[in-house]
Amino acid sequence: MSDTPEPASGVKADLETLVSLAKRRGFVFPSAEIYGGFAAAYDYGPLGTQMRRNIRDLWWRAMVQERDDIVGIEAAIITNPEVWVASGHVSNFTDPLVECRECQGRFRADHLEDDVCPNCGKRGTMGTPRQFNMMLSTIVGPVSDESGRAYMRPETAQGMFVNFDNVQTTTRKRLPFGIAQQGKSFRNEITVKQFIFRTREFEQMEMEYFCHPDESLALHTYWKKERLRWHMSLGIRREHLRLRDHDREELSHYSQATSDVEFHYPWGWGELEGIAHRGDFDLTSHSQHSGKKLTYLDPETNQHIVPHVVEPALGLDREMLTILFDAYDEDEIGGEKRVVLHLSPDVAPVTVAVLPLSKKDTLEPTAREVSSMLRKQFRVQYDDTQSIGRRYRRQDEIGTPLCVTVDFDSLEDHAVTIRERDTTEQIRVPIAGLVDAVTERLDALRPVVPSHDEIEV
Ligand code: ATP
Repeated sequence: MSDTPEPASGVKADLETLVSLAKRRGFVFPSAEIYGGFAAAYDYGPLGTQMRRNIRDLWWRAMVQERDDIVGIEAAIITNPEVWVASGHVSNFTDPLVECRECQGRFRADHLEDDVCPNCGKRGTMGTPRQFNMMLSTIVGPVSDESGRAYMRPETAQGMFVNFDNVQTTTRKRLPFGIAQQGKSFRNEITVKQFIFRTREFEQMEMEYFCHPDESLALHTYWKKERLRWHMSLGIRREHLRLRDHDREELSHYSQATSDVEFHYPWGWGELEGIAHRGDFDLTSHSQHSGKKLTYLDPETNQHIVPHVVEPALGLDREMLTILFDAYDEDEIGGEKRVVLHLSPDVAPVTVAVLPLSKKDTLEPTAREVSSMLRKQFRVQYDDTQSIGRRYRRQDEIGTPLCVTVDFDSLEDHAVTIRERDTTEQIRVPIAGLVDAVTERLDALRPVVPSHDEIEV
């Protein structure tokens, strides 16, 4: 274990509290709720959708846009099934499944703490574990027989391996370079509790970093630090994160090193992101199965080599849940309890709320003008319902960093009040300078992230 500080403080919400907030405020709904839902499937509401888009964009920005050595692709979800034979998923993508002889409940054997059935509570009723394949499959084409059998991808990674040659020859990238991808993946998970932590349909953000074998271990360390920094840049507190190196028994046979970025969830430390050293396993395997050469011609030595790969692999849904846990807080303002999400301005679904103090028509034109001015640069919500106090609380609960209040004085002095979520401090600023004032305040709220060298692993 390389870097495992115990958390200075635990998260403040339990799972139930978060599920309820997510539903009440429109982050996450049970899927097809009017039909009674569907096990472990969720639909994202307006706020959740925006928050996911923000996280997705921040990942893309850090992994692709700001770097010269990584390019993005979007591969098909349902592709040639041979891909999954070569990758080992058809034969090996399994989890150990046990069935309770008493209630026929099915569980992942490695998730059980003792021999008590989590469903019926009986002891010693568990059968022998058997390997259960987690691939979700479908039939493609007009003939409904096995010849059309295809798989929903269980990870985005393989789309990048099978396109290695296409990408390398079209971009002429030299090692080390990466291919990044974001998109849905599907796994027929055996146990799916804990909300959007583990679902059967989820979104992944993965990057395959191809490098010379000699550099691969150093680059694995490099990516552990970079990924930890990225989670911190989204506001997750360092003391709630740790890096855990897999021990020898946990490592895949082809991996020289794998580390997980873990978060301290209410149920204990759990994987947020995996950072695997995959060696040359995937390129070699696809090369053997397809008969196509997947090598890199080293321009210095003029030799063909099979690059090694370091892979940071993250789930978008899990990142969102983690940020919500970390940001959740309850405090007291003016003797009243308040729920507040301390979301970073880049992650928050709404960055500025515009609130006319009263619903009177006289304030509306100015408030609407302020709102359209801000909308050009920020994610704005206009709210003129209920008392101002309730509206502030509502914005606090969804993590809006700033509220701008338009009052009757605004019509005279052409100024508005900015109210800050975390301190509830208020300042008066001229409407003409509002965009700059908001920009400045948001900048001050962004997390301060240590440099790469300051991170210890
Ligand atoms: P676990 O041990 O939790 O099943 P894993 O090690 O199989 O995860 P990977 O295959 O390394 O996960 O996937 C990379 C990342 O994708 C995980 O760290 C997680 O963030 C996300 N992920 C994997 N499976 C799921 C799932 N069923 N639901 C949501 N996110 C997932």
